[in-house]
Amino acid sequence: MDAEGTHYSFMGGGQDLLEYAPVLKVMKKRFPSYVRHAEETQAFSRRFAREVMEPIALETDARCAQDPSYVDWDFYARAMEHHIPSSFIPVKLGGNGWGCLDLLVFVEEGCAACYGLTALIVFNMFGFLCACVEFMPGNLLRMMKHMVEEEKKGNPVFFSWAITEPGGGTDVEHPAGMAKMRPSIEAKKVPGGYVLNGTKCFITNGNLANFICVNAPLDRSRPLETDCTFMVPATSEGFSPGRVELKCGQKACPTAELLFDNVFVPEENLWAPEGEGMRHTQEILSFSRGGIGCGAVGLARGVVERTVRYASEKKINGHRLIDEAWVQFALAGIMTEIIELRHAWVNFAVAIDFLHLMKMINNPVTGAALKVTPGGLLRADWLEDLAGIDLVGSIVSGLKKQMVSEEAIENFIRHGSALKADATDLAVRAASTCADIVGLEGMARRHGIEKCFRDAKVAQIYEGTNQINRLDVFEREVGYRVG
Ligand SMILES: Cc1cc2nc3c(=O)[nH]c(=O)nc-3n(C[C@H](O)[C@H](O)[C@H](O)COP(=O)(O)OP(=O)(O)OC[C@H]3O[C@@H](n4cnc5c(N)ncnc54)[C@H](O)[C@@H]3O)c2cc1C
Repeated sequence: MDAEGTHYSFMGGGQDLLEYAPVLKVMKKRFPSYVRHAEETQAFSRRFAREVMEPIALETDARCAQDPSYVDWDFYARAMEHHIPSSFIPVKLGGNGWGCLDLLVFVEEGCAACYGLTALIVFNMFGFLCACVEFMPGNLLRMMKHMVEEEKKGNPVFFSWAITEPGGGTDVEHPAGMAKMRPSIEAKKVPGGYVLNGTKCFITNGNLANFICVNAPLDRSRPLETDCTFMVPATSEGFSPGRVELKCGQKACPTAELLFDNVFVPEENLWAPEGEGMRHTQEILSFSRGGIGCGAVGLARGVVERTVRYASEKKINGHRLIDEAWVQFALAGIMTEIIELRHAWVNFAVAIDFLHLMKMINNPVTGAALKVTPGGLLRADWLEDLAGIDLVGSIVSGLKKQMVSEEAIENFIRHGSALKADATDLAVRAASTCADIVGLEGMARRHGIEKCFRDAKVAQIYEGTNQINRLDVFEREVGYRVG
């Protein structure tokens, strides 16, 4: 073992996707370009993590501890050069055409370098997901074109997803909890649209957001039955970001309070109608929890890599720390779990691409259409107008509901919740074990190990706490709803 890190180190470069997920070797025979694309994404991601993210991770963390709103805009510009914030947009429209496998390959590598910086540049995915859930083609096209056009001019476009309430983040992710809660926010029907009043909190990139996908009930006393999802431009009168939180970890990605004071939202920006808000939320969670799990595997890998590097250099009793059998056993225990959970997220990502939302893009008909249609035609205004016609919207959205069934979504919540809870617990255990190994000297900030501990702890809490993630698994395993 050398001082460069582990066999699968992002610090070492290269790519080994098929080596650690051999099932992809089998898939490569049937879907060669799909797997080849993910291999190329891994090679790119490792380079980006090593050359762009790792060198600024500690400095950014320290600056954000002083000012939680601090964003390294040079870093963001580098990410935009590679279309990372818009990676999910098809290549013909100006994005990277990443599916879930590509995205999670990037997330694992990025989080091995810095979880916070990764979150800053990939969590725009929430805006895309919110549009994909209802699959209104006009909204989707408009959103993708806007993002790409602004990126070309060097202007970042941020989307946030706001469900968490000051009174409780768990309740808004769980139907039984929401039925009993009293949210702070409420929407009132007015001529031509709705007016929103209330507060959301802990919203990722909320202070930077250009657009916010926000849930609000029409009647606070019946939140579950009347919950809706709205798309709110941050330029709307009465909207403002509030406090930016000083968090213990993942500092490079801000989370903020959002304040809605008589914010008018036009009818066409109602994305999930009355009583459909929780369904919308659940579908997003069925995708996003698996992604958080994948990031946590990367984080666990990152802390192990840093510890291997440190223990390969540190001398005790005339030999290297890593030559101690207890150190090898402790690291091997964590490495074993990393290997197992990598299989889990690769499995999850491929299933999302073929059985969940990405199937809308990843099917033979759409694939062929994207291949033969010139990019100029896809970006044409008349196509956006056509896609925006109600009839076209309801046909496409109905097709999506048939292709991604409720049973499939339930199943993805089960798998994604299990992956997220296990992987984030692993990340905390990995960081704690590594801290035991390196001791106080190794925990000095400059080695990055204490930062991994703080970052991992935060990941256990969001996308529902690990307790509620486990209840979600329990309910689906035994067919019993916790009331
Ligand atoms: C870094 C970060 C980023 C975030 N980004 C976003 C974002 O972009 N958008 C967004 O909407 N939210 C976001 N959140 C909020 C996050 O999703 C919530 O913090 C999370 O869901 C937990 O909610 P809470 O903190 O209000 O805890 P609470 O709901 O108040 O829970 C407190 C405790 O009670 C337990 N508990 C609560 N209800 C139950 C129950 N029914 N059964 C058993 N135990 C229960 C919980 O497990 C926890 O231990 C983010 C949070 C963080 C830290």
